[in-house]
Amino acid sequence: MRENFKSIVRILAKELYDLYDSFKIDAISSNHFKQSEMLEWIGNLGCSNLIECEKIGNSAEGRAIYLYSFGNGTTNILIWSQMHGDESTATMALLDIFSFFSKNHGHTVTKNIEKKLRLLIIPMLNPDGAEYFTRHNAQLIDINRDALALITPEGKILKETRERFRPAYAFNLHDQATGYTVGLTKRLTAIALAAPPFDEEKTDNITRIKAKKVANVFAQIMHQFIPDHIAKWDDTFEPRAFGDNFQKQGTSTILIESGRWQNDPNKFFIRKLNCVGILATLFAIAIGETTSSDTQFYDCLPYNKNLGYDCIIRNANLRANSRVPVVKVDVGINFERKFNKDTRVFELNAKIVEVGNLENFISVEREIDATGKSLDPQRIVIDQIFPANEIDSLFK
Ligand SMILES: [Zn+2]
Repeated sequence: MRENFKSIVRILAKELYDLYDSFKIDAISSNHFKQSEMLEWIGNLGCSNLIECEKIGNSAEGRAIYLYSFGNGTTNILIWSQMHGDESTATMALLDIFSFFSKNHGHTVTKNIEKKLRLLIIPMLNPDGAEYFTRHNAQLIDINRDALALITPEGKILKETRERFRPAYAFNLHDQATGYTVGLTKRLTAIALAAPPFDEEKTDNITRIKAKKVANVFAQIMHQFIPDHIAKWDDTFEPRAFGDNFQKQGTSTILIESGRWQNDPNKFFIRKLNCVGILATLFAIAIGETTSSDTQFYDCLPYNKNLGYDCIIRNANLRANSRVPVVKVDVGINFERKFNKDTRVFELNAKIVEVGNLENFISVEREIDATGKSLDPQRIVIDQIFPANEIDSLFK
């Protein structure tokens, strides 16, 4: 019986993957968007009869925060995205999921989820951060370090929502920083997962084991699309984080971190993986597959390592100043998308993070072979930020 369920989850995940282009929201053309745009896309789906919308509070700057619910089942599942305002990948995926429910209402995945589960979804918990594309909220506070102090209205709303519905499971959706790799493999992490601990000792109890089983199913679903690009997120206990606290309070919580994929600056492929992975995992929960799962695949995932840069210049000559000799070096550069409050446009900046031997590192967006070329020492300043289109002028 169990093998049948496993193969059903696998087959349906593949079907969702193949169907994706037919239901994804085409209007989303960039991963930089504001709450007003998100609300317009949801409104255009015309699915308010299927997916209930409730205002559950206001952000620090007074933007409404909404909870969307779907399904008539008895198992409550809380899903939130973009508590960090510049981490929008999963928000796009959640909107695609709304679109899937709306366009494929008769599909067996939709039917099982609708019958067995009650989804409670907060896409974009931090609309102020999304407005300015910053990690923190408008009070400059990282909401995911506010689970105990509850200084932020967004943190309070999240806590109240958990207490109101007492969900059996929660999905905490993020984007991780650029440049993470799967262990020492030189392969980019596309998705990193964790069942966060609830104490320093990383003790397992029933709640956390249930979360690990869900993470195990999610990782196995991902494995058929991106083998060897899945990692385990750092599972050090963080007493101020929501996932760790929800785990402590009895809601089996998994953290999903969207990583990177080569030549995917808007992270649309990662968005697709999130959409398919979350839908198929919810289906697996609905049919009881996660209960019978073990945790072995999740337990054996390699940890995330930070062995990538957005851009790497290789084999360049550098004489850092007139008192030192010329040496051959690599240069690791990361890109930063910053919102310019004056011009109200996003600027792509670059930052030199490291100079030296980067043979064990991979580049995510750009690789420059600078053999025989010399770097301009005036331009090579660690941590200095400059427009990304000036990278070619780093040479003499
Ligand atoms: Zn985050």
